[in-house]
Amino acid sequence: MSTQKPALAKEELLEKDRKYVWHHMSPHNDNPLIIVSGDGCWITDADGNRYFDGMSGLWCVNVGHGRERIAKAAYEQMKTIAYSPMSQSHVPAIQLAEKINSWLEGDYRIFFSNSGSDANEVAFKIARQYYHQKGEPARHKFIARHRAYHGSSFGALSATGQAQRKLKYEPLGAGFQHVPPPYCYRCPFGQSYGSCGLECADAVEAAINWEGADSVAGIILEPAITGGGMIVPPAEYLPKVREICDKYGVLLILDEVICGFGRSGEKFGHHNYSVEPDIVTMAKGLTSAYSPLSATAVRSSLYESFKGKDGASHFRHVNTFGGNQVSCAVAIANLEIMEEEQLVERSARIGKELDRLLEPLKTHPNIGDIRLFGSACGIELVVDQQSKTPADADLVLRVISGCKSRGLLVGKNGDTVPGFNNIITLCPPLITTDDELAFIAGAITEALESISS
Ligand code: PLP
Repeated sequence: MSTQKPALAKEELLEKDRKYVWHHMSPHNDNPLIIVSGDGCWITDADGNRYFDGMSGLWCVNVGHGRERIAKAAYEQMKTIAYSPMSQSHVPAIQLAEKINSWLEGDYRIFFSNSGSDANEVAFKIARQYYHQKGEPARHKFIARHRAYHGSSFGALSATGQAQRKLKYEPLGAGFQHVPPPYCYRCPFGQSYGSCGLECADAVEAAINWEGADSVAGIILEPAITGGGMIVPPAEYLPKVREICDKYGVLLILDEVICGFGRSGEKFGHHNYSVEPDIVTMAKGLTSAYSPLSATAVRSSLYESFKGKDGASHFRHVNTFGGNQVSCAVAIANLEIMEEEQLVERSARIGKELDRLLEPLKTHPNIGDIRLFGSACGIELVVDQQSKTPADADLVLRVISGCKSRGLLVGKNGDTVPGFNNIITLCPPLITTDDELAFIAGAITEALESISS
């Protein structure tokens, strides 16, 4: 472990932070946590406080912190060559593309980029160009879902279904339509799972028809909505959406930026539903965030239509750092660790154990619902179980800071709809031990008890 001492004293760091740093996604915070090191599932701040990294950073440090094998892979690769672009090819990209294919258990071409947002932009451009080259240029629209988050760039934000994220940045890209998510706890169609007719999937078909089926290129969805509140669909939802896509010739684009690489308890989230997507986007767990890298995997049959020789049929997209050698080498080392330590299987077990440990909380008046997708977990806080009125920001923040004061960092669903930011999230590293899971459950239980007393 590297318990690095900060080069500057805490006060000096804070002063410089206040002066120079613009933080992501938060009002300027004059007293941020300044993280200096990490070891396994634990991170240490500039005061020497240790916290359990209950969100794996931002849903990404799947293999935990301080992996020397990954650091060595990066070092060796940096010594070998600084950089070469992906208009050529290089050894780590070739090896990684093969490995991603084996994880996907399909036949895909891999396009590398830098971030999850990039990977989704690439998916949209490929889908539109594909239909152009297939002789259906009118197909340019995408269906997405309310509450989903697909990234911060204009196309990815257009696909995002959260008003608060878009506020003051609109107008965004045209051609993105949203449908309600399969949110059984608050069914948007007033139904109950078991007696419903999967109206949430029918809404996809209705949107395609209302938009005009021959104008729709694709639908983008996460296997389970993660950052938008851990909304896990019924088992039949994704297979039914796949059928609808087939019926109307619409591409199924799965955003596996969070669900991929073991988080769902399977290699990819869609493996839980035995569905074969046309395009899969991935990032975060691909490198466990040791280095930025994302990928867009495209069914090889689609790739065939990009082989025309007219000068405009190839995919005319480049990003300088996409497929960077070091990031690819890091990803390979990361995936080897996951394979050797069987972290996909561990993720499934973490989910089951968390479910068992959190079970007693289900009777707590402020717990509306607890939802798990593999080892990703959402705890929906309410004013009381009968009314299901979403807990207000004050209550949510009290639970989060109660966890923090007990050494556990948890997350909160991003800005979705005002009044509906009431879901705290957990996404522990896939190396979390049973003792650490007991610690997580204990900290959450105590934090909840302290707000009720
Ligand atoms: N898609 C999903 C499901 C995400 O959760 C995120 C980021 O959290 C993105 C895409 C965008 O990824 P990035 O932040 O790497 O651009």
